[in-house]
Amino acid sequence: MKIAMVGSGYVGLVSGACFADFGHEVVCIDKDQSKIDALHQGIMPIYEPGLDALVESNVGAGRLSFTTSLAEGIAGASAIFIAVGTPSRRGDGHADLTYVHEVAREIGANLSGEAVVVTKSTVPVGTGDEVERILQASGTPHRFAVVSNPEFLREGAAIGDFKRPDRIVIGTEDDFGREVMREVYRPLFLNESPILFTSRRTSELIKYAANAFLATKITFINEMADLCEKVGANVQDVSRGIGMDNRIGPKFLHAGPGYGGSCFPKDTLALLKTAEDYDSPTRIVEAVVKVNDSRKRAMGRKVLDALGGAEAGRGKKAALLGLTFKPNTDDMRDSPAIAVAQTLIDAGVEVAAYDPEGMELARPLMPEVTMCENPYQAIADADVVAIVTEWDAFRALDLDRVKQLAKAPVLVDLRNIYDPEDLRARGFTYAGVGRG
Ligand code: NAD
Repeated sequence: MKIAMVGSGYVGLVSGACFADFGHEVVCIDKDQSKIDALHQGIMPIYEPGLDALVESNVGAGRLSFTTSLAEGIAGASAIFIAVGTPSRRGDGHADLTYVHEVAREIGANLSGEAVVVTKSTVPVGTGDEVERILQASGTPHRFAVVSNPEFLREGAAIGDFKRPDRIVIGTEDDFGREVMREVYRPLFLNESPILFTSRRTSELIKYAANAFLATKITFINEMADLCEKVGANVQDVSRGIGMDNRIGPKFLHAGPGYGGSCFPKDTLALLKTAEDYDSPTRIVEAVVKVNDSRKRAMGRKVLDALGGAEAGRGKKAALLGLTFKPNTDDMRDSPAIAVAQTLIDAGVEVAAYDPEGMELARPLMPEVTMCENPYQAIADADVVAIVTEWDAFRALDLDRVKQLAKAPVLVDLRNIYDPEDLRARGFTYAGVGRG
């Protein structure tokens, strides 16, 4: 089966490469010429573990190719996926559907045979209806169906998530749509991955409900962490204690600097807008968004506190280890590190940082931060060291060297990756999150 993937970012490129690995013939399309040029040279436009090898082997096998031409890419494809960005619209938080609509119009104008058009981008309820209207308005003589198939992969573990998903959600009430989607996912069906068929609108909402629920879980444990600090309890034990309950589950219960990334912030906001449009408030999600927003700067203040407060912090130096919103990605979108760094800079603190993969994308977002070549260069002469992202590389820092290089042995561990007792025994002043 031939599949076209319009948009070759995190989702489009990973999905396209995985579909090719299943044996489908896949063309990844992107309007960004530099991205396609890089892919032709075997250079990945994003950092995702295992992606370069997967792309290389499938290009080598002749199953995966790249183009900037949508007309060329979709010719003969039975399934055309839309995997372009749906960022927050400036000003109101609605999902910006400009790119999705633009692609729908282009597909309508270039369709050369029957095809199923599949929205993989995260889109608000009713977007499939609009894509269908656009295709109808194009006057295409070819049969088509518009299907929703949200993506649940996690950056950093994207290939595994795509190949062994907890579930695949397919929203369509159209027989042709269902038939083609069964064929697309047949390899996973044989793997016994559960496939949930729903209405298109239900499928669109499932994606937002899932992300809003996960964001709520994270925000809940973050507030518990604050309470732990006040009452002298340990949030990691609280997480274990509640996570062992099967009704709750252990995941997404790690206290930290607040959620960030390319999905949760924009998707929670977009859900609020949908709820507002339909006059059906989602107050829990409203609270989650507010609490998370204020948390990011609060974490900056936590680092400032370790410097003795805003007054004492002026002119001192902070080293930030980790900038991406989570490890194993270079994605800086809405990363808590941005707010943490800004809070420090606003207070007159000099900030140096190191991240294994994120510095190129971080640089324009935090021009006042000095980017370093390794953690120890950032730590040199620092009055405080803050772990912002839990990259493996920071789990086993040479603590003697840290102590030697830093001006003061002060560690603020926003991801709770170190043992407070151990650090204190080594002479560090240590502050974690929610650990009494
Ligand atoms: P991205 O920004 O990494 O990639 C989008 C790509 O689409 C870009 O390369 C852009 O050049 C391309 N594009 C835009 N308009 C185009 C057009 N007219 N023709 C061809 N290409 C075009 O975005 P992403 O992170 O891959 O996210 C894509 C969608 O998937 C979003 O709706 C997002 O919410 C959703 N999603 C993302 C993740 C994730 O972890 N990143 C997970 C699940 C769902």
